[in-house]
Amino acid sequence: MGIMDLFKSSKVEEEWLLPEESRKHLSEHFEKMRYDVHFEVFTSKDMNPDFNEYAVRFLRDLSRLGGKISFDQYELDSDKARERGVDASPTLLVNPDEYDIRFQGAPLGEEGQSFITAIMLVSLRQSGLSEDSRGILAELDQPRSVDVFVSPTCPYCPGQVISAIKCAIEKPGLVSARCIETGENEALARKHNVGGVPLTVVNDGEHRMDGLFPEERFVAELVTLQDASELMARHDHSHDHAEEVDLVIVGAGPAGLTAGIYAERAGLSAVVLEKGIVGGQVALTPNVENYPGFPSVPGMQLMDIMSQHAREYVNVHESESVEEIKIGRNIEVLTDRRTYLCKSVILTTGAVYRKLGIPGEDEFYGNGVSFCASCDGYIYKGRKVAVVGGGNTALTDALHLAKLGADVTVIHRRDTFRAQKALVESLEEQAIPVVWNTVVEEVVGEDGQVTTLKLRNVLDDATDEMAVDGVFVAVGQEPGNALAQMIGLNMDGGGFVKVDGRMRTSIPRVYAAGDITGGLQQIVTAIAEGSIAAMSAFEDMSSPYWKQS
Ligand code: NAP
Repeated sequence: MGIMDLFKSSKVEEEWLLPEESRKHLSEHFEKMRYDVHFEVFTSKDMNPDFNEYAVRFLRDLSRLGGKISFDQYELDSDKARERGVDASPTLLVNPDEYDIRFQGAPLGEEGQSFITAIMLVSLRQSGLSEDSRGILAELDQPRSVDVFVSPTCPYCPGQVISAIKCAIEKPGLVSARCIETGENEALARKHNVGGVPLTVVNDGEHRMDGLFPEERFVAELVTLQDASELMARHDHSHDHAEEVDLVIVGAGPAGLTAGIYAERAGLSAVVLEKGIVGGQVALTPNVENYPGFPSVPGMQLMDIMSQHAREYVNVHESESVEEIKIGRNIEVLTDRRTYLCKSVILTTGAVYRKLGIPGEDEFYGNGVSFCASCDGYIYKGRKVAVVGGGNTALTDALHLAKLGADVTVIHRRDTFRAQKALVESLEEQAIPVVWNTVVEEVVGEDGQVTTLKLRNVLDDATDEMAVDGVFVAVGQEPGNALAQMIGLNMDGGGFVKVDGRMRTSIPRVYAAGDITGGLQQIVTAIAEGSIAAMSAFEDMSSPYWKQS
């Protein structure tokens, strides 16, 4: 069980907020604490009362577990609050005499992960930044205030918050880090036009980062207050010492993680490289209901369990992006960090969101246009949103948004859904309105925020407008085939990699599995393909089919 699971259990005992199993795991975790960690928590009965109670009960639980955690509670209207510059409830400060690290809003859901990480790093008095990041941050000589806007179900948010906290620990006098729950801090979110999370605002708007960044890029942008994407891409491999492994697996969704487990269990040395975070598309699915053994499970939770299992066998490197694969006598895999020398490669690079390709879609991305209902849904509680699409993703997203309290309408270009019957029935039961036979032709906004969708009925060309605060685009996926194209694998007309029954591609020693191969694109099929690819790689190494006549 992962740290994040600890916050998701519904089994809560009376005198404790955290269930017994979670307390046991946290106690074990806290045994590694070195120095005391002290919190100051500020509350006001007039602001977010439910979340205040949660925050205080949560801290009380933690202080009873570790022995090294303590806290003091203050009123928001107090001299202490004024001294610390706290003006929102609840706010939790971590070792405020040493650092400026604050959680504004209760650390619920995914944010529990960054909260526990903050405790551990502060307790060790170590930033945990990589050597490269520390080198970049060493150049900082001006103050930086870092506000990371998050939501409880956003799987990308903890990564960004943790980077901010690490910088605040590394440069205590200069960097302050604030994790802001968007839903509990609406006025602040409005001030910074938050339409998607994570959104990182540096120095009250001097620089913004949309989404989760690899740690080094985060640090580079924090220092320079400029886009550092190109800087990060210019990695020089010439001095790298190549790491030797039998198998490199590219992508850490269900297919890649399964391939890792099977490869290591077969006796191969393997590494799984993931340019973002583990979990692939599933991590962004609000709820999965067709994975056997789990009648209903949040996608992120399922992937946490899967990745914990995989990590028992195989090294999984997040935020490591493969830039080039050179196929020779050995295979060289060049990433933005290092070079691997291997015998085989499995591509499990999945799929990427398909865009509508209409005016306003890019312009308002992160400011009302979203491709991730799991991440951004919370922001639209009580507001009007549209979901575009008629497949499983669109309906899963619409149901999730309705559950969060958004006023949802589905817009679909035909008069029937292609989604599974169970989802269609749920949509009908919830009486979620559908605009049939209609396409969105333009996303319009004002002051940088979406306000209106321009619609066209495909049957009679009649045009209309719909006032919305946000639009979730769920019109399918396109294969993530950039690497496959680069090395020249055979693909079908849709850009999916062609494989045989053993998941072998057109180039010997290169295999593919999961959504990148097209087909049914389900978690269970990705898992099956991952296991087959790993076993084929293993068998082909000892008995190369391409050398047999
Ligand atoms: P999908 O099944 O390809 O559906 C895409 C939907 O978007 C279709 O309804 C399509 O309309 C519509 N669409 C495509 N391009 C459009 C455009 N330019 N403008 C307007 N509408 C457009 O994609 P998905 O729902 O993302 O699912 C992808 C894969 O993941 C599927 O294999 C799915 O089964 C799987 N998945 C499964 C679950 C689950 O099992 N619970 C959940 C999520 C995803 P038409 O119908 O007219 O083509």
